[in-house]
Amino acid sequence: METVSKQLELDKRYIRMASIWAENSYCERRKVGALIVKDKMIISDGYNGTPSGFENICEDENQITKPYVLHAEANAITKIARSNNSSDNATMYVTASPCIECAKLIIQAGIKRVVYSEHYRLEDGIELLKRAGVEVLYVTNDNEQKQ
Ligand SMILES: [Zn+2]
Repeated sequence: METVSKQLELDKRYIRMASIWAENSYCERRKVGALIVKDKMIISDGYNGTPSGFENICEDENQITKPYVLHAEANAITKIARSNNSSDNATMYVTASPCIECAKLIIQAGIKRVVYSEHYRLEDGIELLKRAGVEVLYVTNDNEQKQ
């Protein structure tokens, strides 16, 4: 019982860090942050935004998100591809529930656990993760006011 609550405290702490990391996003419609943790170390991070070398603007003149904007999860996973780390058996903390495209990447990256703090209207990403045997946990972010 004690270890369960300790894990939950840790999960909530990382989610708060991910939400602080989301503030880096220059996207106006939505800011999402992600952290990848392995063996109690943060091995990668990401927030939604355009690819390296592109302008730091996510929305077009009609306030529609550009098709080449990467999600926070994709940025965190691809950052590992350029490092010496491995996401195998890692935990991902993300401030919003992953979409189906990111869920595919999470599965293929060998991530075994996903903790998120905000429900997205579509649950198909979460469903896919569960189907692949990834542990999925929803936690509330105590720093945010919930309606
Ligand atoms: Zn996504």
